[in-house]
Amino acid sequence: MKNKKFYSCEDLQGSIYFGPNALRHCCQRFFVNGKMQGDVEILKVKSNNDINVQNIVSEKKKIIKNLNNNKKTPCDGCPKIQLKEWAESKEIKINKISIEAHSKCNARCSYCSEMFYGGLNPNYNLNDMLTKFRKQNFFSENVSITWGGGEPVLLRNFKNIFKNFIDSKYPKFKDIRVYSNSIIYSDLIHQYLDQKKIILTTSTDAGTQETYEKVRGVKKGFLNIFENLKKYNTKKNGNIIIKYILTVDNYKNNEIDSFIKLIKDYELLNCNFEISTDYKFENLDLEKSLSIIYFYNSLNAAGAKFVHFDDHVRKRLFKFFKENYSTQQLDENDMFDNLRKYFNKDIIVWGTGRYADEIIKNSYLFKKSRVAYYVDGIRKKNNNFVTKKVFSPKKILTSDNPILIASSTYWQEIYKEILDLGVDKKRVINTLVI
Ligand code: SF4
Ligand code: SF4
Repeated sequence: MKNKKFYSCEDLQGSIYFGPNALRHCCQRFFVNGKMQGDVEILKVKSNNDINVQNIVSEKKKIIKNLNNNKKTPCDGCPKIQLKEWAESKEIKINKISIEAHSKCNARCSYCSEMFYGGLNPNYNLNDMLTKFRKQNFFSENVSITWGGGEPVLLRNFKNIFKNFIDSKYPKFKDIRVYSNSIIYSDLIHQYLDQKKIILTTSTDAGTQETYEKVRGVKKGFLNIFENLKKYNTKKNGNIIIKYILTVDNYKNNEIDSFIKLIKDYELLNCNFEISTDYKFENLDLEKSLSIIYFYNSLNAAGAKFVHFDDHVRKRLFKFFKENYSTQQLDENDMFDNLRKYFNKDIIVWGTGRYADEIIKNSYLFKKSRVAYYVDGIRKKNNNFVTKKVFSPKKILTSDNPILIASSTYWQEIYKEILDLGVDKKRVINTLVI
C-alpha cells in the first residue's frame, strides 16, 4: 500500500525516553514566543505495570493525528516536525531508546536541572522493560541507544543493566552512546570503549578549577575528569567525544586557552570535540559568537582532528551572522579564511537530513558555492533531495569535488567510510562551516 505524506517527527515515529517516573517521546527543546517547550511526555509511570506497548503506540498516534488535523499538540512549533511519507502509525516500532531512568548525579551543572540531578531512582525495572518489549516484538531491526541520567554509573544496578542491554542479541543495539561526566571511572565503560562498542561523550566545560565550580556546581572532580578520560583513551580508537558547553561563565578566551592546554597535557587531542551552548540562550551576541569561532580555530590549530558544533550552536551562529553581518562583512573577515577555499566550487553533500537542509539554506558557504549532488548510505524512496538526485556513496569516487559531511552525530563514522572508500581526506571539508 502506498504511504501518504503526513506531519510527524523521527521521535514520534520510533523513540522512547525513559525517565524515572515518566516516558517521553523526545528530549527536544525549542522556543515558542520566548517560552521553552519540548520534552513531550508519553505517559507517567508509577510501576512496571504502567508501561505497555499499546499505551505507548496509542499516545504516539494521538499526537500524530492531532498534528495532522490542526489540533493543538505539545509539539506545536517544534522544528523537527516534517511533512513526508512516514510509516503508518500502526507500524510504529522502536528504533531509538534513551535511558534517563534515574536522576542521581555527582554534579550540579548550571545548565542542568532537578529533572536530571533530583535524586530519583526509576519507578520500574529496566531489565523487565527490555524483556517486555522483546516479547511484543516492539523493536525495529536497528535500535540506537543513549545512556544518560543523571550520571549513568550512579544508576542503581548500573553494571548489570548496562551489560544486559549492550550484550543483547535482540534487539542488537547499534550506535550506543554513553553520556557520562567521567568524574567516576567505570571499568565497564572502559571495557566497551576498548571493544569499540560504545561512544562516550563527556562534557568538561572549564579550563580551570574556579570555572569548573561555577559551571558544574561542585568542587570535586575537575582533574579527575581529565585523568579518567586519559585512561579511557588508552587505545586512542576515536570513540570519545569531549564536549564543551559554553555558558556565561566559561566562554572567555583565557578559559578556552586553559582548557586546550589540559587537552594537550592529558593527550586527548585525538578525541572528537563538540562545542555546544547552554540551551537557555535563545540568541548569541557578538562576543559569544566570536568566542565560539575562536574556540573552533584554536582547537584546530592545536591539532584536534574533529571539531564540531552541535545543533544548538550551529543554528544560533547561522542566525547571528544572518542578522548581524552582511555578506560583504563576512567576505572581509579573516576568521573565515579556511572556509573561503571552498567557495565557487561544486560540493558533494553527504547526508540528506535536516542538517543538510539547514546548511544548504542558511550557510555562508552555500551562498558562495553550489551543491554538485547528494550522497547517502540510506537510499531514499524517490532518490531526490531538494530537487537534486541522491546517489550511493560510491559516486564520490567519480570526481575530485570537495565533500561536505552533513551530519553532526555521525560525522566521524561517515568520515571513516569516506577514507575506507580510498578517498583523499583533503577532499573532506573539515573546517568551520557557517
Ligand atoms: S515534534 Fe518535536 S516536540 Fe514533538 S515529539 Fe517530535 S521532537 Fe518532540
Ligand atoms: S553531569 Fe549531566 S546530569 Fe549531572 S548535573 Fe551535569 S548535566 Fe546534569
